[in-house]
Amino acid sequence: MHRSPAKPQRIGVFGGTFDPPHVGHLVTAVNVAHVLDLDPVILMVANVPWQKAGERTITPAHDRLAMVAAAVAGVPRLVAGDHEISAGGPSYSADTLDALSREHPEAELFLVLGDDAAAGIHTWERWDEVIASARMVVVDRPGEPAGLDATIDWLRVEVPRLEVSSTDLRNRFGDGRPLDYLVTDEVLAVVRERGLYRTVDPPAVDGGS
Ligand code: ATP
Ligand code: MG
Repeated sequence: MHRSPAKPQRIGVFGGTFDPPHVGHLVTAVNVAHVLDLDPVILMVANVPWQKAGERTITPAHDRLAMVAAAVAGVPRLVAGDHEISAGGPSYSADTLDALSREHPEAELFLVLGDDAAAGIHTWERWDEVIASARMVVVDRPGEPAGLDATIDWLRVEVPRLEVSSTDLRNRFGDGRPLDYLVTDEVLAVVRERGLYRTVDPPAVDGGS
């Protein structure tokens, strides 16, 4: 009997520090998964986010992974990725995409970025390899649109723009303002269990990548 070949898998990779993961990340991931028919979308937790290292105290990688795992538990299509943590050292998307394409040689890879991150693509380690190994997907964050390299064939996806950032959340932990509805209860439970964000750096302004 003739069987039509299975559709190649379409895998989304949404990388970040996720310190902590918030509803902006989740709303983005589920909507991009829906619009582009991606399954899974991997929320890839950076081990050492080299662009942020030295700038501020970063929550240990295993704690950030636990928060992301809690955030996506039971959510169709979304999974937490520990590839970069298992690999150790600084996390470069070029290496992560390379590892994923070896693991899933038939799959099409989609790298999902907020426009602030997308605007900095040229500062990335081996960015030319990155754009060659995945379709680049960009979503707008609130505020002025970031200027993107027009020579890259971006796939733009409209998602609800939520003015939420991990920077603002860390500041909220610092000064006791409410976190309700900005992070999920499951993430807050991990924060409490592990005693995270008890000491935070002095308030920082938003806008890190
Ligand atoms: P920080 O304030 O510490 O930089 P962040 O909220 O920007 O944290 P990151 O872990 O730096 O979160 O971001 C991971 C990815 O998620 C990036 O591509 C970023 O652009 C995207 N992102 C973060 N927040 C949002 C949001 N509210 N809407 C859409 N994309 C977002
Ligand atoms: Mg950021």
